[in-house]
Amino acid sequence: MIKLLSKIVMLSVFASFSIVKSQSVKEVLKQNGTFRKDMTFAIKSDSKETYLPVTIIKGKEKGPVFSIVAGIHGYEYPPIIAVQELLKEIKPENIKGSLVIIPIANVESFQKRTPFINPLDGKNLNNIFPGLQNGSPTEQIAYLITKEIISNSDIFLDIHGGDANEDLLPFVCFYNREDNLEKTKLALKLSEASGMKNIVSYPYHLKPSDVSKYAFKEATQKGITALSIEAGKLGTVQNESVHLIKSSVYRMLKFSGNYTGKIPKTNVAEIQTFFNDQNYVRVPENGIFYSTLKSGDSVKTNQILGYITDEFGNKKQDIVSEVNGTILYKIGTPPVNKGETLFCIGYTK
Ligand SMILES: [Zn+2]
Repeated sequence: MIKLLSKIVMLSVFASFSIVKSQSVKEVLKQNGTFRKDMTFAIKSDSKETYLPVTIIKGKEKGPVFSIVAGIHGYEYPPIIAVQELLKEIKPENIKGSLVIIPIANVESFQKRTPFINPLDGKNLNNIFPGLQNGSPTEQIAYLITKEIISNSDIFLDIHGGDANEDLLPFVCFYNREDNLEKTKLALKLSEASGMKNIVSYPYHLKPSDVSKYAFKEATQKGITALSIEAGKLGTVQNESVHLIKSSVYRMLKFSGNYTGKIPKTNVAEIQTFFNDQNYVRVPENGIFYSTLKSGDSVKTNQILGYITDEFGNKKQDIVSEVNGTILYKIGTPPVNKGETLFCIGYTK
């Protein structure tokens, strides 16, 4: 019975892969009618195999293509669960234009419970954009997202959260691309429309030939309106983070004109806070990290943020803030390794 069942599962997996080879996202988006289509892109690199799941929801009337990605980091659960709920709730009848949704971009990282990296090749998907067509599994996922999703999007939203070791303040963010003000302004408007309390803009200095590394930076570089939501922390599913992500996405979809249904009334911040620059505090040496500070706490220049000890309990050094600002995220568990981002402190210039 188990053998038979596994054969059926294998057949259904291969069957869905074979559909994909004949159709691209672009071709599906061109099809007439109001529909939802679930598809998978097969990925093979030497003996390693995985896949990229994609759902396309096309509405009756014309409108923008709004893409939503979860699970680029498979241990960041609130974005993945929020997108699962959106997939259940959103009907094609309530959509104008199209939604292109990746429910879990890094399936292996999710299934194998691996923070940050894909266990198939040890690579961080959010560090290798635009990817490589014939590269390792993770490089191929990045390539497919670039080619199939980003290039067909009017608006690209990549949803993350604090990974297994990250304590994070929820925020919505975009790159302040000053040479593409129209798209940058739309990203700001969408951020405001999300209702999230904290809005972060990152400086943007990429040349066209530079490597983008990050998914929504790749979209920004390609001239597409791109944003990211960050919500959830420390490798757990917090219901409030799931609800926050969902309501923020619904509000963005309403603002972009993609969604005609009802949107949740909760989770709208009365006052929004803007952070237009960030200070990254790097881990100076390997060790055990102690801090009483949490994400969202305010810090001052020269304030001691915490300290690092060795395995014998000897204090190695204090960690000191170089700026006044708010902790957007920090390492929230004891082990720290040289070069990692220990704190990201947001502030306004
Ligand atoms: Zn992430």
